[in-house]
Amino acid sequence: MKAFEATKLYFQKASDIIDLSDAVRVWLTTARREVQVQIPIEMDNGDLKSFIGYRVQHNNARGPMKGGLRYHPEVDLDDVRALASLMTWKTAVVDLPYGGAKGGVCVAPRELSKKELERLTRRFVDAIHDVFGPDTDIPAPDMGTGAREMAWIRNQWEKYHGFSPACVTGKPVEHYGAEGREEATGRGVGLLAFKLLRRLGRKPAETTVAIQGFGNVGSHAAKLLAESDFKVTAVSDVTGAYYRKEGLDIPEVLRYMLANNMQLKGYANAERITNQELIALDVDILIPAAIGGVITIENAPSVRASIIIEGANGPVTPEADEHLDQRGVTILPDILANAGGVTVSYFEWVQNQQYYKWGLNRVRQELDHVLTQAFENVWRESQEKNISLRTAAYVIAVQRVYKAAQLGGLS
Ligand code: NAD
Repeated sequence: MKAFEATKLYFQKASDIIDLSDAVRVWLTTARREVQVQIPIEMDNGDLKSFIGYRVQHNNARGPMKGGLRYHPEVDLDDVRALASLMTWKTAVVDLPYGGAKGGVCVAPRELSKKELERLTRRFVDAIHDVFGPDTDIPAPDMGTGAREMAWIRNQWEKYHGFSPACVTGKPVEHYGAEGREEATGRGVGLLAFKLLRRLGRKPAETTVAIQGFGNVGSHAAKLLAESDFKVTAVSDVTGAYYRKEGLDIPEVLRYMLANNMQLKGYANAERITNQELIALDVDILIPAAIGGVITIENAPSVRASIIIEGANGPVTPEADEHLDQRGVTILPDILANAGGVTVSYFEWVQNQQYYKWGLNRVRQELDHVLTQAFENVWRESQEKNISLRTAAYVIAVQRVYKAAQLGGLS
């Protein structure tokens, strides 16, 4: 099942509970605007090459639309559409004053030189600059893009509209970027693990954790969890998984990765296992933080963790979700679990709008505050209605968007 269908399915489940009419469901699931543009650029060797770029603006009932910009060879409209709607529910469940959007260019960024990527990014902005901006739709980094691309986007957008760093987030700190943006998603995963554990009456020191994916999200989550007394017994990346029953020395694993071209391959102070074996480890918490669709109906029966925290987007398929839910596994859903990133993006936008810079401590405190509120609301909803945390998160998000859309009216 593709990500778009999975998001729709969770939306429908929540809509059944809220009792929304079919017409309202169509209204809330259909994108407000979908833009597809051609991006012709001159390559370094003088050849002409055309790329296709997308920006899908799903919903703006609760505020300017917000979502990343992905550079990947498999980007297509369907994918971008799914991710745009996911952003609407994500910003709503965390109660940021935003709607949802997503963009992408079908390109393999590693095959382009820096100069070619810059031309591509600037040309893309030329094509869509009039449909995004600080009060309409604010892009951010996603797979294949980072602070460098965001600086190019800002610079190009400002050529048309004048100084306005809030037109894009995830910028370098020297370009009005926020302190703490890089760690935000992983830190959020760690903070939420802590909140969830407390609600379940368990203690970090007695809790083992396995993390799939040791990139931005996984490594920052591991760092915070290890600092908070959790025992992280396994981590992995695309090269394989590394397990130590007594708990890994996370600062040492991080140092190894930084010195080893950002990969774990060859890490010697742990047992080498496969990514599949990591998913089936006898741990308390499993954190899939790599890619989508890794826990399926085929391997879900082998999962032994009683808690799953979705660091990645859509790592558990809907069939696996149902199976695990019936087995009593607690799943903290992606739209809440990995919302730390968009939350700090929101802080960046707020600082840019006010020309006032926050320090790292303030960013961390506000992040904790926003995620705690969101978590407690979702927890309460799930207890009161006796539904899973995922369904509770969607119920809250869909209700908020519907209410705002209704108040805004149709004309
Ligand atoms: P990243 O590229 O920094 O890291 C990805 C990690 O996963 C790397 O360690 C990589 O080796 C590993 N990996 C890739 N394919 C794998 C596979 N098949 N098996 C095992 N490991 C594999 O990416 P990231 O920014 O950490 O994002 C991870 C996930 O979190 C993605 O699904 C992303 O969409 C989601 N997410 C990220 C953010 C953010 O702020 N970075 C925010 C929300 C959601």
